[in-house]
Amino acid sequence: MNMATSYRVLLIEDDPSDAHLVRSALRGAGEIRFEITWVTTMGEVEQQLADNPPAVLLLDLSLPDSTGIETVKTGRHIAGALPIIVLTGHDDTSFALKALEAGAQDYIIKGSFDTDSLVRSIRYAISRAKLEQRLQKSEERDRLLVSALKAVRYGVVITDIDAKIEWVNPAFEKLTGYSFNEAYGKNPSELVKSGEQEEVFYQDMWRTVLSGETWCGKITNKRKDGTLYTEELSITPVTDDKGVIRHFVGIKQDITERIQLQGQLWEMATMDFLTSLYNRRHFMDLLEKEFARVQRFEDHNVAVLMLDIDYFKRVNDGYGHAVGDALLKNFSMLVRNNLRKTDIAGRLGGEEFSVLLPDTPIFAAKVFAERLHLDIKNNPLMLGDVAIAITVSIGIAAMEVTDSNCDAALIRADNALYKAKEAGRNRVEFAIKPS
Ligand code: GH3
Ligand code: MG
Ligand code: MG
Repeated sequence: MNMATSYRVLLIEDDPSDAHLVRSALRGAGEIRFEITWVTTMGEVEQQLADNPPAVLLLDLSLPDSTGIETVKTGRHIAGALPIIVLTGHDDTSFALKALEAGAQDYIIKGSFDTDSLVRSIRYAISRAKLEQRLQKSEERDRLLVSALKAVRYGVVITDIDAKIEWVNPAFEKLTGYSFNEAYGKNPSELVKSGEQEEVFYQDMWRTVLSGETWCGKITNKRKDGTLYTEELSITPVTDDKGVIRHFVGIKQDITERIQLQGQLWEMATMDFLTSLYNRRHFMDLLEKEFARVQRFEDHNVAVLMLDIDYFKRVNDGYGHAVGDALLKNFSMLVRNNLRKTDIAGRLGGEEFSVLLPDTPIFAAKVFAERLHLDIKNNPLMLGDVAIAITVSIGIAAMEVTDSNCDAALIRADNALYKAKEAGRNRVEFAIKPS
C-alpha cells in the first residue's frame, strides 16, 4: 500500500483569488496530500493552531488586521516552532530577507510560484523546522546537563585528547583552588601534580584510558595554595560516533576528611588512649603475626618483654590518681623512645606493659632493658621540684618455633617478671627455655 505523505497547511490570506491560486497549486501536487485550512485574518490563527495544529503556515503579509513585517513577527510569536512561509506580493528581496530575519522560514512571491516550487518550499520549511527543533532540544539538554554538572559536589574536569582542560565545574574550582580561566587549556598535571605518585602510576592511568577503559584510583594532589589533598578520581574516555576518543572526563571526590576519619577510627580501635601505645587487643594481634613469622622463617627471633612498674600503688596513694596517670605517660614515652621502627609496645592493662623486639635474640634484649632502666632513672616525672622516681621490673622470653601458640612466650616472660619481683624488683630476669 502506498502511504501518501500528508501535510496540514494553514493558509492565512484575505484575498480569495490569491487563496485560490495557492489551493489549486497544492491540489496539483502528486504524491503529497495537503489538507488546507483557509482563514482570512490574523485573529483566527490562534484558534486554528489550537484546534487543528498545522505542519506549516502560509502567511500573506497584508491582512485586514495586520500588515508588513509585523505580521511575520506576530505569526512567529503565536506559531511557536511551526514553520512559516510568507506570501508576498512585493518583488523585493530586501523585504523578503527582513521577513526571514523576523522568523519566517521561506518566502514565496505571489504570481510567480508553481506547484513544484511551492511544494519544495513547504517540504524544505518543514524539515528545516524539525532540524531546528532537534537542535533546540539538544541545546536545551546540553544546558540542563551543564547545570547538573555545575551543581554536583564532585569536581568535574573535561579535557581534550591531549589532556588540555576544556571545562571544569565549580566543585573543581573549589577543590583545587584554580578558577575555570586559570585551568582552561592547561594539563591537569601542570596544576595539581603533587609528586606523591611515581611516574609508573601515571603511565598505568594513561594506558587504561587510552585503551578505552575507565581508570579509577586514589591520588594525592596539590592545591593552588600548595596544600595536599587526597581524591578519589575516575577518568573516562569519551568517544565520537566513530569510536575515536575525543575527550576525557575526570570526576574527583575529595576524600582527605574520610582518610583522616579512618585514621582516627583506626587509632581509637588500636591505641591506648592514655599512653598512645597499642592497646591490649591490637598488641595481641601483632603478637600473633610475629609468632607466625617465627614459625615461617627459621632465623626470625623475637624477644618478648613483660614490664611492670614497681610499687605503683604507692604513687597513686601518695600523690593521687592524676599523678599516677602522668607517670604512666612519662614511662610510656621513655619506652617509645627506645624502640626501633619494627619494635612493638603495648599497654596490657594498669601499669603492665609488653614489648616485642623482632630480630632480637633474648640476650640482645637485655641491652634494651638496661637502657630503659637507665632512662627511667635519669628522667623521673617532675612534680614541681619534686622528682617522682620509679623503677620497673622486666621479664624477658624468646618466642620459640616449638611454642603451641603466641601466648606461650608471653606467659614465660610474665613468669620471668614474677621472678624479678620476687628477687627484689628493679631488675631483669630471663625465662628458662622450654624443654
Ligand atoms: P608491684 O611492684 O608488685 O607491681 O606493686 P604495684 O603497686 O605496682 O602493683 P599493684 O598491681 O598492686 O598495683 C597496681 C596499681 O596500678 C593499682 C591500680 O590502682 C593502679 N592503676 C591501674 N591502672 C591505672 C591507671 O590507669 N591510672 C592510675 N593512676 N593507676 C592505675
Ligand atoms: Mg606494679
Ligand atoms: Mg601490677
